[in-house]
Parts: sequence; structure tokens; C-alpha cells
Amino acid sequence: MKAWQKNIRSITPYVPGEQPKIKDVIKLNTNENPYPPAPEVIKASAEFDTNSLRLYPDPDATVLVEELSKFYERPADNFFVGVGSDDVISIAFQTFFNSGKKIFFPDITYSFYSVWADMYRVPYECKKLDSDFKMVKEDYYEENGGVIFPNPNAPTGVLESLEEIEDILEHNQDVIVIVDEAYIDFGGESAVSLLDKYENLLVVQTFSKARSMAGMRIGYAIGNDELINAMKAVKFAINSYTMNQSSLAVGASVIANKAYFEETIKKITDTRERAKERFKKLGFVFPDSRANFIFVTHEKYQAKDIFEYLKTKNIFVRYFNTPGIDNYLRVTIGTDEEMDKFFDVLEEFIKV
Ligand code: PMP
Repeated sequence: MKAWQKNIRSITPYVPGEQPKIKDVIKLNTNENPYPPAPEVIKASAEFDTNSLRLYPDPDATVLVEELSKFYERPADNFFVGVGSDDVISIAFQTFFNSGKKIFFPDITYSFYSVWADMYRVPYECKKLDSDFKMVKEDYYEENGGVIFPNPNAPTGVLESLEEIEDILEHNQDVIVIVDEAYIDFGGESAVSLLDKYENLLVVQTFSKARSMAGMRIGYAIGNDELINAMKAVKFAINSYTMNQSSLAVGASVIANKAYFEETIKKITDTRERAKERFKKLGFVFPDSRANFIFVTHEKYQAKDIFEYLKTKNIFVRYFNTPGIDNYLRVTIGTDEEMDKFFDVLEEFIKV
């Protein structure tokens, strides 16, 4: 080994779901929304002043923050925006998890948490979910350096009630508790309603799922101004600019359209409920999902075999080769038509 090689940072990165390069695939592997974003995107893109690209973007992302502030009826200084919620959570790790004590998150959860913890050298302990994939709240009563979990959880889709979240907050008033609500719009009660009661709570949301704008990379955190200012200081110590001009303009344009947002969510959750029935009929077992995906397993068939068979038919679902969940598939909810094709192929597999 050369002397300089010893000093290269070695880290195992997070691996996102595959983005196939071929056309005509049914893509149910990365929890994207199968419907287009709100129509305001077309107008805002057409009206976008390309000459403004000469200039650096507004570091405070004011147009976007103001729209969020109106939507949530909370002061603008309660919002921190970033390049997807991955960016926001990464900044939150760097801002809040500095005690040297272990932070807690569930053992089966968004696998990026352990990557950030390793990256920023934050010690952590994973708390086992129970046999129904629910969090055991008492496990979070021990002293810790912070808590983070998604609600609904990923990749299980399991929702924790607001009472359970409040219980965790009650027992963790000395640390920051982050609730990652990437999937909350598909059927959960947001912890935003607890923000005025718990100054140590940070709620993170995204434009990538219910708003169907994963490609724009917009995420945000909501919390009291002290937490938000601390995140901004860390953020501006890394990069002065938040997101590009067009993301700001296009992102801000869609927020006020509640009707489209709700209509798209309803389509997806209706399809999800139909998909649950079809999975059941085929003998699949799954925890009840309140997200835009279902985490399924079958007693007779290996998840990996199903995953590979579907892939030969250009249908992509997510398979995690991770102990404990390596016989599960996470299937994102597509359009009705996509789901019909998916189930046709699944039935074909089961019959063979
Ligand atoms: N949190 C969870 C639980 C997720 O599944 C994802 C999507 N991979 C994210 C955060 C990040 O989403 P984005 O960066 O697109 O906002």
C-alpha cells in the first residue's frame, strides 16, 4: 500500500434502487410516483427565465420557503430546504448528533441512516422491531445521542401512531428526535402537529413521493427556528447554495395545488388497497402498508427468484439481500395498468 492510500476515506455507500437504461419497463423498485407532477410544473418550466441562470441562486431559497410556510401555516423560519430529503437528513446528522453517545434507529429501516452515521462517525445502535415490524417504544427510553426513524417505516410501510411518537418524544427530551416522513401523505398522521409541544422534534418531508418530483431533488425539514438556524449554519459551512434556480421556481409552483396533490394520493392509495387483496389471494403475507409500497413475502417461493423472474419480464421491484429481510420484496405501487401487468406476471411465475 502506498503511503497516501492509507489516508483515503473508506466508506460503504448507500446503494439506491436501479434506474434501468432500457425503455418499456414497469418500474416498481424505487417508490417513485407513477403519475406526473402537478400541471403547474409545465407552466413554471415554460416561463422559467433562462437568463437568470447567469446568477447564483437565492441561498435562502425564499420562493420555496414562502410557499411551504403558507401551505403549513407556520413561520418561514421553521423551514430548512435541501436537495432531496437525503441532503436534509445528512445535514441534520451533522448538526444534531454530536454528543458522542449512540443514536437509536430501528434495525429494519431506511438503510441510509447507518451510512450517514458511519460517514460522520456517529455511534449508533439499531433497535429491533417486533414480529409485526413495529417499533418497541420502551427500547428508546435508554439514554442516547438522538433518535431517527421513518414514519411510515421503509421498507415495511408500517405506520406508528402519533401517540407512539409522542411517547418516544416524552422519553427523549434531551436529544433531537427526527421523524422522516417521506411517505406520510399516503396514509399517516404527520408529527408536524407535535412541533409546538416538543422543541427537540424535527420533521422531514420530501417532494419525491406524493408530489411526484423525485427528479427535482427537493426535501425540507420543519422545526423550531433554533433547530433550523443550526442546520443552516452547518449547511452554509459546506455549500452556500441550496438548489438550482429552476428547482426553486418549479418546486414553488406546485405547492398551492392541494387538489392535484390529494387526487394523486387517492389514486395511489386506492391501487395499493386493491394490490393488497391480490397479494393475499396469491398467498403473499405482508405487514399492513400505509406507504406507496408493500413489503411482501411468500411461504413457498423465494423472494430472490421472484425478483429475478420479474426482471426477465422487464418488471423491476426492490430486493434487499440483507439478513432478516432477504425473503421479502418491496413493491412500489404503480398505475392500475402497471399493477395488472405485474400481477399477471406474478401469477405466471406461481403457476410454473
Ligand atoms: N427517507 C426515506 C425513508 C426514503 O425512503 C427516501 C427515499 N429513498 C428518502 C428519505 C430520501 O428521499 P429524497 O432524497 O428523494 O427526498
